[in-house]
Amino acid sequence: MADRQAWDTDILIAGGGLAGATLALAICRLVPGYRVTVVEAFPLSGDPAPGDYQPSYDARSTALSWGSRQIFERLGLWPSISAQAAAIRHIHVSEKGRFGVTRLDASDHQQPALGYVADNRWLGLCLMESLAQQPDIHWLAPAQAEGVTSLQGGVRVMIRQDGEARSLTSRCLVVADGGRSGLREALGIGIQKEDYGQYALIANVSTEQPHQGVAWERFTERGPMALLPQVGGPEDGHRSALVWTLSPADLEEVLALDEAGRCARLQQVFGWRLGRFTRFGESHHYPLALTTANECVRPGVALVGNAAHALHPVAGQGFNLALRGLMALVEAFRFARDNDMPPGDLRVLERYRQQHAPDQQQTIGFSDSLIRLFGGGYPALGPVRNAGLAGLDIVPGAKHWFARRAMGVAAGGPSRPSSDRDREHWQ
Ligand SMILES: Cc1cc2nc3c(=O)[nH]c(=O)nc-3n(C[C@H](O)[C@H](O)[C@H](O)COP(=O)(O)OP(=O)(O)OC[C@H]3O[C@@H](n4cnc5c(N)ncnc54)[C@H](O)[C@@H]3O)c2cc1C
Repeated sequence: MADRQAWDTDILIAGGGLAGATLALAICRLVPGYRVTVVEAFPLSGDPAPGDYQPSYDARSTALSWGSRQIFERLGLWPSISAQAAAIRHIHVSEKGRFGVTRLDASDHQQPALGYVADNRWLGLCLMESLAQQPDIHWLAPAQAEGVTSLQGGVRVMIRQDGEARSLTSRCLVVADGGRSGLREALGIGIQKEDYGQYALIANVSTEQPHQGVAWERFTERGPMALLPQVGGPEDGHRSALVWTLSPADLEEVLALDEAGRCARLQQVFGWRLGRFTRFGESHHYPLALTTANECVRPGVALVGNAAHALHPVAGQGFNLALRGLMALVEAFRFARDNDMPPGDLRVLERYRQQHAPDQQQTIGFSDSLIRLFGGGYPALGPVRNAGLAGLDIVPGAKHWFARRAMGVAAGGPSRPSSDRDREHWQ
C-alpha cells in the first residue's frame, strides 16, 4: 500500500443502498485498513435509532436466505436484524387449480428456519447504526457520482454535491447505484435485458388465520405470487408481505379497486388456506425484467448488487445473490491487502468475477426457469409443472437441492451436488 496516500480514498462505493452500505460495513469489519468513501444520492435517513423502531404496515420487505443470515452473523449485524426478522419455518409451493404441491420444512434440514423476512427500513437502520461506529467510512450524502475516468492504478470519480462539481481519486470504484445504474451507462457497459412483460405489486396484507411462519409461493395461470410471513407491528402473526405478479391490464384493474376489492381479488387467486384477507396495505409496483451487466469488472472498477444483476423478485433471490457477491469482493480485497496489491488491480477484481459468476449464472437460471415454467402463459406445460412439484415433494434429493437453492446455501445446481444425499440422487 506504498503509494496510497496519493489517492483521496482506497475504495469509493457509488450508491449507499442495501448493497453499497453492506459492502462498506463488510470491508471495515472483515478487511480493516482500507479507507472507504460512500457516495449516496439520498440524504442519510433521519429515522429513529433501531431501539425506537415500530414496524409499519406500509414497509417493503426482503426475504433473507439462511446463507444471508450467516453473512450478517459474520458482520456482527445478525443480533440486531433478528430482533425484527420473521423466521420462515416452512415453504409451501403450489399451483392454482392443479394437484402438484411441495412443502419444505426447516426441521428436515436440522435448522431453526429456512430463511427470514425483514423490513427494508429495519435492515437500513441496523446497517446505519453499525456504519456510524466505523471511523474508516466517509459518507458523501446527498451527492451524485456522475462519471468516471481511468487513471494509472485507479480512477477519478466526478461527483456533484450541493450543486457543485468536484472529483475524488480512488484506487478502486465499486458501482452500487442500483438497477438503472447511471455509472454503468457512463462506463459504456452494456446490459442483457429480458422483459417479463409483467409487474410486481407489493403490499402488506393481513389474514384471519396466523401465518405460523409459512412462506407461500403460488403459481397461477396469470403469474406467480409470494406471501412472506412478517413479525411485530400491527396484527402481529397475521401480517404477510405480498409480491403479486400481474400483467399490465390486471395491474390496472387491481389498482382501480378499493381495499375490500383488492382483498376479494387476492382471495380468488390465493384461496382460503389462511382464511379471509382482512387488510391490504399501501401498494407499490415495479416492472419486471431480468437485467445482467455484460461486464462486472474492469481495471479499477467492480459492479455489485442490482447494478450487476436485477432478478424477478418472486423467487426472493436478488439481494441474497448480491450479498454473496459482496463477500466474494471482500475476499478479493483481502487478497490484495495481504499481497500488497492495489484493490483495483484487474487480477484482484478478476478473483471476484470468477467466484461470483457461476453463482450468478446458477441463481439467475434457477429463478428464471422457475418463473418461465410456473409463471403462467404456458398452459401446455401444466402436466410437466404438476410432475415437477409433486416430484420435488416425493424425491428427497430433488427437494433437498431445491431447498438448498431457496436457502441460498447451495454452491451448485443439480450438476454439482452439494451433499451426499444430493449426490445420491443426481448421479
Ligand atoms: C419488489 C421487489 C421485491 C424484492 N424482494 C426481494 C427479496 O425478497 N429477497 C431478495 O433477496 N431480494 C429482493 N429484491 C431485490 C432487492 O431489493 C435488490 O437486490 C436490492 O435492493 C439491491 O440493492 P442495491 O443496493 O444494489 O440497489 P438499490 O437498492 O437500488 O440501491 C441503489 C442506491 O444507489 C443510489 N444511487 C443511485 N444513483 C446514484 C448516483 N449516481 N450516485 C450516488 N448514489 C446513487 C440510490 O439512491 C440507492 O440508494 C426485491 C426487489 C424488488 C423490486
